[in-house]
Amino acid sequence: MKNRRFFLALALLATLASPAALAQAKRRNLPRPGWNMFSKEQDIELGREYAKQVERQFVVVQNRELTDYVNRIGMRLVEKGGLEKYPFSFKVVQEDSINAFALPGGPMYVHTGLLRAVENEAQLAGVLAHELSHVVLRHGTNQASKAQFAQLGALLAGAVIGTGSITGQLAQLGIGLGANSVLLKYSRNAESQADLLGAYTMAKAGYNPIEMARFFERLEAERKGKTPKLVEIFTASHPSPGNRVKAIEGQLPYMPRGPYNASEGDLKRVQAIVAKLPKMAKPAQPGQGSATAPLPNASKPERVPVSRNTRLYRGDGFAIQYPDNWRVSRSQRSVTIAPAEGLVQGHVGYGVIINRATLQRAVNLEQDTQSLINGLAQQNSNLRTVEQPQRITVGNRRALVTKLSSDSPYAGMREIDVLVTVGLDNELAYVICVAPLPDYPSFEPIFQLMIRSISFE
Ligand code: ZN
Repeated sequence: MKNRRFFLALALLATLASPAALAQAKRRNLPRPGWNMFSKEQDIELGREYAKQVERQFVVVQNRELTDYVNRIGMRLVEKGGLEKYPFSFKVVQEDSINAFALPGGPMYVHTGLLRAVENEAQLAGVLAHELSHVVLRHGTNQASKAQFAQLGALLAGAVIGTGSITGQLAQLGIGLGANSVLLKYSRNAESQADLLGAYTMAKAGYNPIEMARFFERLEAERKGKTPKLVEIFTASHPSPGNRVKAIEGQLPYMPRGPYNASEGDLKRVQAIVAKLPKMAKPAQPGQGSATAPLPNASKPERVPVSRNTRLYRGDGFAIQYPDNWRVSRSQRSVTIAPAEGLVQGHVGYGVIINRATLQRAVNLEQDTQSLINGLAQQNSNLRTVEQPQRITVGNRRALVTKLSSDSPYAGMREIDVLVTVGLDNELAYVICVAPLPDYPSFEPIFQLMIRSISFE
């Protein structure tokens, strides 16, 4: 037994010292996504909505050969580079500036100016690999999470604020899309991460990773040169972490060694097509996303039935009893349980909303509840705290109950919103029970029954 163990140890040492194992060990040091209040699905949804907006604002080039070429390079990086799967797409937009940008969740846009500026396919692949890395490292929503923690808790509640689109809701927080959007303006640390993962991805896909760094350093130089306008957007949203070539050279020993001879087409031919593209006029810019939809001012239903019989709903990590004549609807992570009569144009007039915010750190129940209330106040008209938070237990967990009030979707009426927040390690689960002020006393028993029935897995 002893001997075998000794040989095993030797064999292990031998594997560890081999270059392949060293590369493997370094691979584990590749950057990973940071903490994020959005789910991966929300990144994808956000990107889809933004893509619609982008395609109204830019001229998307309809040239098969051009688009196919960029797609082949993009998909080669994704597949051979072994990147995490997202619904990636690659389009060319008619813009003279040297830039490319990727929206959260996958849609990418390459400026014709970039196609003109690159000296070889590896440089184009480098910009694409760098952008793809921002997507899989989820830098956009990671930064939005850091910037807008309090408000996002409420925003991601979704159902609380009606059925508005996620981009419309972000717009209300001042998170828009443009050169200065927090979603596309990366920190120097994010840049280093995207360089590192991008370079590794390039090497795996058969492109020389140094070309990416060389191109970025050329753009930096251009910023101080004759035509800074052309590189302005890129260098402003991707600030140089400094010494890009050196940083990547330092990592080369741990990267797949090539041969770096990938080619998906004839770049010169593609550049000739770009030069001959007809100049299309930009579409008229529509107004930015609308603000909070005004409350519907509906008339209050005469009767909202509450069945005495209950049913069990099993959600994502929790279960709750509810009256069997109420309905359950889901939107992202948010679950609304309400009578049909209690829903008014996407607003909840009567009912219960359950949601969770992922913090990726331990919950601080008091503080995070206050942040959530602050966020809710931004999204709900005239929200006020009626009774300060009190401690209770829900499903054997520490919880706080806070009585709030705000304007009801029913004309000229206030409502009671009882907020129950529960700390689940690194998630804040919350339940909001809603009823118009005059009816609240008669709904309190069913709300209490529902809260008491909650269990967590
Ligand atoms: Zn970047």
